[in-house]
Amino acid sequence: MDFRFNEKRSALKEKIREFVEKEIPREHARELDKRDEFPHELIKKLSQQGFMRINIPEEYGGMGGDVIDTMIVYEEISRRLPVLSWAMGNIALYGNEIISLNGSREQKESYLPRLAKGEVMFSFAITEPNAGSDAANISTKAAYKDGYFWINGSKMFITGAGVADYTITFARTGESRYGGITSFIVDTKSEGYSARPIKKLGYHGSNTCEVIYDNVKVPPGNILGGESGLNKGWQQEMKLLNQERLVLSSCALGIGQAALEDAVEFAKENFRHRQSRDQYQSIQHRLVEMATELEAARQLAYYAAWKETQRIECVKETSMSKYFAAETAKKVVMQGINILGPYGPVMAHDMQRYLRDVLILSIGGGTTQIQKNIVAKTLGL
Ligand SMILES: Cc1cc2nc3c(=O)[nH]c(=O)nc-3n(C[C@H](O)[C@H](O)[C@H](O)COP(=O)(O)OP(=O)(O)OC[C@H]3O[C@@H](n4cnc5c(N)ncnc54)[C@H](O)[C@@H]3O)c2cc1C
Repeated sequence: MDFRFNEKRSALKEKIREFVEKEIPREHARELDKRDEFPHELIKKLSQQGFMRINIPEEYGGMGGDVIDTMIVYEEISRRLPVLSWAMGNIALYGNEIISLNGSREQKESYLPRLAKGEVMFSFAITEPNAGSDAANISTKAAYKDGYFWINGSKMFITGAGVADYTITFARTGESRYGGITSFIVDTKSEGYSARPIKKLGYHGSNTCEVIYDNVKVPPGNILGGESGLNKGWQQEMKLLNQERLVLSSCALGIGQAALEDAVEFAKENFRHRQSRDQYQSIQHRLVEMATELEAARQLAYYAAWKETQRIECVKETSMSKYFAAETAKKVVMQGINILGPYGPVMAHDMQRYLRDVLILSIGGGTTQIQKNIVAKTLGL
């Protein structure tokens, strides 16, 4: 067994860390959180540095990286500006990965090189007011008439739907619960498409939207996978789930790591010399618990990711990882708030932002309870 990253991955980690230090100083991250605007300028810089093509196959202009490479990048970005990895996830995971995995040859040739260069952005729309945890319950419909599909319905909480060029839209094309769902690549400039941003506590700037489809016209060629992709939306989404859970695990690890590092610095500056040995030791123990739990979550995430890259069945491990990383990061950030005491909730410190951001990770991409339901099934329960 070798738990080290190989040279290429170590270099990638170093490169993304340098990018973060140079392009996203703390003050800039705070400013972006305050402005609550989509981080277009940073997405552009990530593209220029080649990070948006990390998981695109080489034949389409990408780096051909796997989910471990992607996690390394997301963890480092989340350590400074979690919303940026959330925004990037939409493009990289739902643009690059879903098209790499499910697109027709023409779709791959059309979208992947542009995604690699950062010329287009994608969002991904499944959730509706009555369908999220129960995703197969969608009621947005795509009806075929006069050579086109006409989409009618609404979606909720869709990240980046107001800034993306295309939204991969899950719509009902048949009665069958799982076998009657199709994914469409919807051009957001289409007549009848509108997205309204929803204000929220954390992940400021991720452009979470309510989306309305009012008779949106889509050619059959825009079915994901081409016309043979009709009614295959559910199967296509299933192929993405392990990666989604892993990438979100790494986002949680990044926030947890940031909270741990800030809390360590705060303790060294404020308690080391001012408190008695016993008092300081009690703070030390809390920090040690934060570090240990975070490390356990990290090991589980990268172990699950290794299984995924080896094509070994890992639904149990990716679901365990998604919920454990999110819940651990929440716990770590809460401890961070406690250690900073009255400064924890103060806006001039970043800990309050970590708390606002981390809360979303146990909801998006399948809630903690849903991940536990999946693990329970794998245990035969
Ligand atoms: C910031 C943000 C960004 C998002 N971005 C996107 C996006 O880009 N695209 C997209 O399609 N969706 C997106 N979502 C939606 C997200 O994936 C769903 O909100 C999430 O999966 C929860 O589903 P729900 O909305 O149906 O909530 P509900 O399922 O109604 O959740 C309410 C509570 O009920 C619990 N619950 C529900 N069913 C069960 C069950 N069977 N067993 C036990 N407990 C249960 C949940 O765990 C939760 O605690 C986003 C959400 C947020 C908050």
